[in-house]
Amino acid sequence: MIKFFEKDPYAPIQYVYGVEKVLYKGKSDFQEIMVLENPHFGKILVLDDVVQITERDEFFYHEMLVHMVMHAHPGPRNIIVIGGGDGGAVREVLKHDSVEKVYFVEIDEEVINVSKKFFPSVACGVDDRRVEIKCMDGAEFVKGRDSDIDVVIVDSTDIIGFAKSLFTVEFFKSVKDCLTDEGMFVTLSESLHFHKDIVIEVQEAMKLIFPTVDLYTTPIATYAGNWWTFSAASKKHDLRSIRRPYAINTRYYTDEIHHQAFMPPKMYERLMQRKLQW
Ligand code: SAM
Repeated sequence: MIKFFEKDPYAPIQYVYGVEKVLYKGKSDFQEIMVLENPHFGKILVLDDVVQITERDEFFYHEMLVHMVMHAHPGPRNIIVIGGGDGGAVREVLKHDSVEKVYFVEIDEEVINVSKKFFPSVACGVDDRRVEIKCMDGAEFVKGRDSDIDVVIVDSTDIIGFAKSLFTVEFFKSVKDCLTDEGMFVTLSESLHFHKDIVIEVQEAMKLIFPTVDLYTTPIATYAGNWWTFSAASKKHDLRSIRRPYAINTRYYTDEIHHQAFMPPKMYERLMQRKLQW
């Protein structure tokens, strides 16, 4: 079996995957796209040599990215998903009956096309009538919008290259401005094992803009560092409470996981004071 050596931009280790078959290899205007077949993980989507999703474990990430804020919000109707070209975040958003409109803002149309072809169980929601696809930089899309959005979700590649525009104070300000008074925001923020400084920087930048900022984590088998963090922010409500009944079909997220996933307050304080030593 041939091997794929992942080239994660920040990780001090390297993952190696056995490859039964290279199902797709191409280059878009933005990045190199590959779809590999692995005996354990099934199909794997790889962008610029970094694993994005695997068929076997994608639901851990997508459910935890989407459902925490969607349950903390009292009634999310208008949603923006930025990145997430595989369609997994959109699929999870659409599980909420309250949702009327999803702006799906992916810079690279080719990722959507490849995902529709090779990952139909992940990309199954992208042609839903509530979804409007915009192929452009998410930072440009949120700039100067009306304040009519309930939830903004960032599902980008690692914080390098064109994904960097989604982690600036200026971007967080545009996000806040496009949200309604009860609006909420969530983004990936790398691993607590390997990228503690990045986690702190994202939190600090979000705190400059939003009155409420929080941090939760989940274990992800295929992202380097595994102890994956999500940074969330809110204009009014706290994020730890659930404001709507948990009534959707999920494999990992539950109302119990919602409460358990947030960082314990004292540990959070020590993290932000840079007192966690590892
Ligand atoms: N779940 C994956 C992870 O955490 O590694 C991310 C998967 S999704 C395929 C990431 C997508 O973000 C890519 O398709 C990439 O094109 C898109 N992306 C990166 N920067 C972007 C930006 N500034 N605006 C819109 N989409 C962006």
